[in-house]
Amino acid sequence: MAPPPDRGTFRFDKYMLVMIALRESGYPLTEHAPPPCPREWLEAVHDPTYVEEVFGANVPREKERRIGFPVTERIRDRVRHTNGGTWLAARLAMEHGYAANSAAGSHHALHDTGAGYCVFNDLAVNANRLIAQGDAQRVLIVDCDVHQGDGTASLMAGRDDVFTLSLHAEKNFPAQKARSSRDVALADGTDDDGYLDALSRNLPDILDSFSPDFVFYQAGVDVHYNDKLGRLALTNEGIAARDRFVVNEVRRRGLPIASALGGGYGRDPRPVAERHARSMIACAEANMRHSRSSSVSEFSARESAT
Ligand SMILES: [Zn+2]
Repeated sequence: MAPPPDRGTFRFDKYMLVMIALRESGYPLTEHAPPPCPREWLEAVHDPTYVEEVFGANVPREKERRIGFPVTERIRDRVRHTNGGTWLAARLAMEHGYAANSAAGSHHALHDTGAGYCVFNDLAVNANRLIAQGDAQRVLIVDCDVHQGDGTASLMAGRDDVFTLSLHAEKNFPAQKARSSRDVALADGTDDDGYLDALSRNLPDILDSFSPDFVFYQAGVDVHYNDKLGRLALTNEGIAARDRFVVNEVRRRGLPIASALGGGYGRDPRPVAERHARSMIACAEANMRHSRSSSVSEFSARESAT
C-alpha cells in the first residue's frame, strides 16, 4: 500500500487481474468468497465515528484525500469483504497451514482515518479478533511491503500480545514513521541479498523470542525493482526467496500463517498482478513442504467488487 499520487487514481483492476493470473498459472488452488467483516470487529480497533463515516459512505473529504479515493457505498462493501477475507484466510491457515487473502494488507489505515489506499486495517482488526475470541494468544504481523506498516504499528502499539515487524524502504512513504515492535529500515536500492540478509537477521529471532501462535504476513510486491512506488531492487526470484523464507520459518515451527496482498504498482497492472500471483504460489509451495496432507493449499480469494 502506498500514498496517493492524485485523488482517485488507484487501480482497482489489479485485483481481478491477480485472480486471472492465479487461475492461468495452473497451480491447484481453491477459491473462497469471504463474508463481510462484522462492524463490531472494525469498531474494536478503529474509532466508531470513523467506522460510521465509512458505513454511511460519508467520509470527510480530507480523510478521502488521505485514503486516495472516494469512499463510496461500493468501496464500503468492498472493504468489509476484503477485511473479511483476511479473517477467512486466518481460519483456513489454521486448517491448512497457509492461506492467502488476494486483497487487503491495508497497513496504513489508522484509528480514526484511512490513509495510503487503505480504509480499514485488516491486519490489526483480525489480529485483535483472533486474540479476543481465543483463537490465538500471541500474533506476529510480518510486514514486507516496501512501505512501513505505520497504521498497524500505531493500532497495535503498547500491546504485549501482538508483535509488529516491518521491513521497509527508509526513505519511502510515510515520511513520518510510526514505531513498530521492530522496524528494519532499508536503504534505497537494497537488492535480493541485502533484503534476505536483513530478513534472516530478524524474523527467526522474533519467532523464537516472541513465540507467536499465529502469523499474519503482509506480502506486498512493491519491493520489486520495477515497482512505480518502491525504492528497493528485488527481482522476481528475490521476492520468491523472501516468501519461501517467511513461510518456511513460520511453518517449521508448526505455526499457521495467513497472507494479505499488500502493495504493488505499475503503469501496466498486469505484470504487477503476476508478481502477486507468483508470491502467493511461492508461499503455497513452501507450505506444501511442511504439510502432512497432500491436499491442495487454499487461497481465500475474492474478486474485486469495483
Ligand atoms: Zn506499499
